[in-house]
Amino acid sequence: MRVLITEIIWNEGIEELINQGFEVDYDETLWKKREKLLEMVKDYDAIIVRNQTRVDHELLDAGIRLKVVGRLGVGLDNIDTTAAKKRNIQVVYARHANATSVAEYVMTAILSANRPLYFADKDIKAGNWDRKKFTGREIANKTIGLIGLGEISHRVAKRALAFGMTVIGYDPYITENDFIVTETAVQVKESLEEVLSESDYISIHVPLTPATHYLISESELKSMKTSAYIINTSRGGIINETALASALINHTIAGAFLDVLEVEPISSSNKLLFCETAMITPHIAGLTQESQIRTSVLVAKEVGKIVKGEHSLCTI
Ligand code: NAD
Repeated sequence: MRVLITEIIWNEGIEELINQGFEVDYDETLWKKREKLLEMVKDYDAIIVRNQTRVDHELLDAGIRLKVVGRLGVGLDNIDTTAAKKRNIQVVYARHANATSVAEYVMTAILSANRPLYFADKDIKAGNWDRKKFTGREIANKTIGLIGLGEISHRVAKRALAFGMTVIGYDPYITENDFIVTETAVQVKESLEEVLSESDYISIHVPLTPATHYLISESELKSMKTSAYIINTSRGGIINETALASALINHTIAGAFLDVLEVEPISSSNKLLFCETAMITPHIAGLTQESQIRTSVLVAKEVGKIVKGEHSLCTI
């Protein structure tokens, strides 16, 4: 059994593959070397990728031996899952493995919007002592609006409730029997507009699909309170960045926390770079030591199951 890994994986995942009897070839920069990857993939039973490798029909056709694509994460927008299905190649992903890390990132964003400890410390070390400038705000009794009510939102909802927040959300695909509804006090709204207009913090947790592309654009941003923040840890392309930059520049919303962008790494001409109220991070919401060990081991195990013809619960 041979597996090719094209992006960063934690050692625990490699050890798991070796323990299962895999011959492992690992080059964390292979996703950048398209021609080499297309040439190499023909010799492998499995390929493991993160979110940078374009797994399209060309790559799947080249992988004449491929039985499975393992995705070290959750979003599958870099993988042509229909093309994989047609070729009988299974796709396994790190189901639930980094949801807690993303939820903790969202809470960090909300808290840091209100208690800028880092900036207060910088100010003190610059020789100041300004208590008025750093007067914060409480998040208790504020409203968080969750767009998409899946795994990550469930974890954010639990944490927000513990902080005394009101949790509302929008997701046209969930029912009253879904876990997030039965296990948290999330109030499910009929429309996106209701969530946008009632929330102090909006956090986006939907997959990037044709239906969610530019889900948040000019008119949606106009529905938000001028004091509200938007947090996007889902995917670039769900927020229209041109519309967001103008909302921030014109102060029609208070700020944005962006972990994901339409073009990653960020382009030097991206207007958001010049927005003081945009806080941008390099796609790290799901990246913690704990989640990466979980993700690497889980995907290694599930890839092994598929290659051996066993059943996996992490397929799509
Ligand atoms: P999930 O599949 O558990 O939940 C997604 C929810 O979105 C589902 O309940 C679905 O019904 C809902 N949805 C789909 N289309 C919608 C629409 N048009 N409007 C409202 N709701 C809609 O996924 P998850 O585990 O919560 O992850 C969400 C996304 O977060 C992933 O698709 C991935 O792209 C992203 N993610 C990012 C990071 C990171 O490091 N930044 C890490 C993990 C996941």
